[in-house]
Amino acid sequence: MNFSSQLLTWFDLHGRKGLPWQQSPSPYNVWLSEIMLQQTQVSTVIPYYQRFIKNYPNLTSLANASIDDVLAQWTGLGYYARARNLHKAANIIVEQHNGELPKGLDKLIALPGIGRSTAGAIMTLAHQQHFAILDGNVKRVLARYNRVSGWPGKKQVENQLWQLAETLLPAERIAHFIQAQMDLGATVCTRSKPKCENCPLQEGCQAFQYGIPQNYPEAKPKKIIPLRKTNWLIMQLSDGKILLEQRPNSGIWGGLWSFPELEPLEKVAEYCSDKFQTNITEITAAPSFKHVFSHFKLDISPHIIAVNHSSNNISENNSASWYKISDALQLGLPAPVKTFLKSLAKLRE
Ligand code: SF4
Repeated sequence: MNFSSQLLTWFDLHGRKGLPWQQSPSPYNVWLSEIMLQQTQVSTVIPYYQRFIKNYPNLTSLANASIDDVLAQWTGLGYYARARNLHKAANIIVEQHNGELPKGLDKLIALPGIGRSTAGAIMTLAHQQHFAILDGNVKRVLARYNRVSGWPGKKQVENQLWQLAETLLPAERIAHFIQAQMDLGATVCTRSKPKCENCPLQEGCQAFQYGIPQNYPEAKPKKIIPLRKTNWLIMQLSDGKILLEQRPNSGIWGGLWSFPELEPLEKVAEYCSDKFQTNITEITAAPSFKHVFSHFKLDISPHIIAVNHSSNNISENNSASWYKISDALQLGLPAPVKTFLKSLAKLRE
């Protein structure tokens, strides 16, 4: 048996067939699930996917939603550019493609947030067309099976993997084959401790034959992640309301609601007064903690600042508002902000 027959036979017995997006693999459902699954495990994605589909059952409802609502649904899933691109693409599809995801690899890739692998998944899983995919799971299986050297983030290595992925496509059962590759990578050919004893590809797998699956794919060359520092200003009125600012669309946590930041802290009194018309009555430092992004670490020192203010209007600053904590928790928030707000709410209970 060759690669695809071995994989398909295994899929019939062990493949995942009950995932929510597999029940009705429309182009919209496949697209949404593929975007959510980027860098994220299936078990994490399932509840988000189910909630998202309930709120936005089709592409038009997603396009009609506000970006704030979409980001609120995404809170905790991370990589928020995915949600912004999803919303942007939905609007383009409504305007330019009559509300239907276009059929065709190039047309899909032209949309924000859809790369070659996601487009390939939509074309195969929703339309049963012959295209390869190359997500993290597939890269790992192919790199091990063929002992492909080098880090897959390098163009030359990625091209080699694409070529292999295309060569291995079977003539029939393309959707099952693509799903089988993803399933094998997720459940058997796992990043650490692959279960080679249960693998249908064992016989032809070069990394297994040499006893070195863990050497593939090669890790990204290490570089030192810089550490940045910031102070969160958690301004709180005597009635418990806190001030949140909407972050600019570009940059980390783009478009999400977060606490104002100031580094260094020396001129905090002037800052709060000039920018938010508040007078500080007390500052309490909370324990600092680190949040890790893909390209840097952020050392966050939260300061709970009791304030009073003379006006409800925050002049020249309509991206900031006062919220009851229960209302704030309904907004699109970065995960650490949400966690902090929840603990703040408990303190006041
Ligand atoms: S034999 Fe092991 S290393 Fe090779 S594809 Fe299967 S699980 Fe991965």
